[in-house]
Amino acid sequence: LYGDRRNSGGFVFADEATSAPFLAALEPLLARTDWTAAPLVKGRAWPGTKVEIRDPSNGRAVGSVMEAETKLVDQAFSAAVAATMPDAQARATILEAAADKLEAKRVELIALLAREAGKTLPDALGEVREAADFCRYYALLARRHFAAPETLAGPTGESNDLRLAGRGPFVCISPWNFPLAIFVGQVAAAFAAGNPVIAKPAEQTPLIAFQAIRILLEAGVPPDALALLPGRGETLGAMLVADPRTAGVAFTGSTGTARAINRALAAREGPIVPFIAETGGLNAMLVDSSALPEQVVADVIASSFNSAGQRCSALRVLCLQKEIAPRVLSLLEGATKELVLGDPARLATDVGPVIDAESLSMLLSHSTQLDRTAKLVCRAKMPAGEGGNFFAPCAYELPSLDAIDKEVFGPILHVVTFASGELEPMLAAINAKGYGLTLGVHSRIEETVEFIRRRACVGNLYVNRNMIGATVGVQPFGGEGLSGTGPKAGGPHYLFRFAVERTFTVNT
Ligand code: GLU
Repeated sequence: LYGDRRNSGGFVFADEATSAPFLAALEPLLARTDWTAAPLVKGRAWPGTKVEIRDPSNGRAVGSVMEAETKLVDQAFSAAVAATMPDAQARATILEAAADKLEAKRVELIALLAREAGKTLPDALGEVREAADFCRYYALLARRHFAAPETLAGPTGESNDLRLAGRGPFVCISPWNFPLAIFVGQVAAAFAAGNPVIAKPAEQTPLIAFQAIRILLEAGVPPDALALLPGRGETLGAMLVADPRTAGVAFTGSTGTARAINRALAAREGPIVPFIAETGGLNAMLVDSSALPEQVVADVIASSFNSAGQRCSALRVLCLQKEIAPRVLSLLEGATKELVLGDPARLATDVGPVIDAESLSMLLSHSTQLDRTAKLVCRAKMPAGEGGNFFAPCAYELPSLDAIDKEVFGPILHVVTFASGELEPMLAAINAKGYGLTLGVHSRIEETVEFIRRRACVGNLYVNRNMIGATVGVQPFGGEGLSGTGPKAGGPHYLFRFAVERTFTVNT
């Protein structure tokens, strides 16, 4: 229980009594090659340009998507502008029903997450739970803040109150790395705050988005108030952002794309609207000599290599105090060699594929460059057999923090060392990179932890644990600086940016 609500439950895969029936139900769904997705506007599916979707772990067909024709953009906005929004209590009830349906369909959703997005089974289960949590949490916030006006004290003979209301059509542009949780989270937040939504999923993961939108519609979101437009960012995404009817944009993806959207919003006619961007990070972990090496290594492996390093929160730069570095690096080498790469739908797999060939070639070229400029610490074994976008998790020791300036999205860990007394300049150098998403700390010295807490410019600071997997309502997630605009997803203030505030004054 978390205060007055409960987050979605899971199960332990190692417990055969629960996992055996789950795996039996999953098996036929993993074999499906006929999943489909299409644009959904006014509650019906529309034709489009057919594009095949392939499994990143083996290149086999998973299904196909009809990418939206650009003329649908106008239809989606016309419907959204005319949509009648349910009141806040009704929106909350709809989102709670959607959460129940997400859980009820979790086997289908997990199968698709594994096949379309290369998610391991524990990751996929976590994602379904997070999607349900977002729905329930934003439902709670809608009830708390949107259902009744807030009465304000004022002079005698006058009544004053403040009300929150939706802004109008909200465009939600989501990433492939959390194709269910972040996709549903954005849509649920925008809807909870009273906005009709036009959702554009990542090109790589439209099939799972289609299932999610169907669930939201079945749960009772009015058909005019929710459209799905699968397609390319450069064309369709750009049109949605440029449309003067757009009343706000929620985006998760790269810092570069966020800048492009921000420029496009600034350049267009129409109102000045909120832009909620969640972008990348150059996330570091600071480890001093008081840390426990075994725990550090377990947390580094999870933070850097879980989800094939394809989390915004993932650890990119491990900063080790020199005294502890040899022990940590030797344990890290052993642990990395034990990682099992392969089909994400097999329980034995620790690390699945990266999302596509483009991502794989970017990682290969970065590691080739590191082969020349840095020292290889360790590399995991590649899976047996051919094919699939597999990249073996690896770590390289860099001469200094100057050697890395941008986020590399995948399972490559950079290591730097610092001398005793150099923790302060190391932290200052991390801050100076300009990102501000996650930071990990391993230290058993309270003063050191408190010093870092006061100085670190990050949205999420994790001490003596891993630095991924923020829990809805428990660790509100999102960064500052180059990492995003805020507000934090899964946090108590998230919905406000999606809303307008209206003051109502009556002379009584
Ligand atoms: N919320 C996720 C986590 O804490 C990361 C989300 C992302 O990659 O955008 O690991």
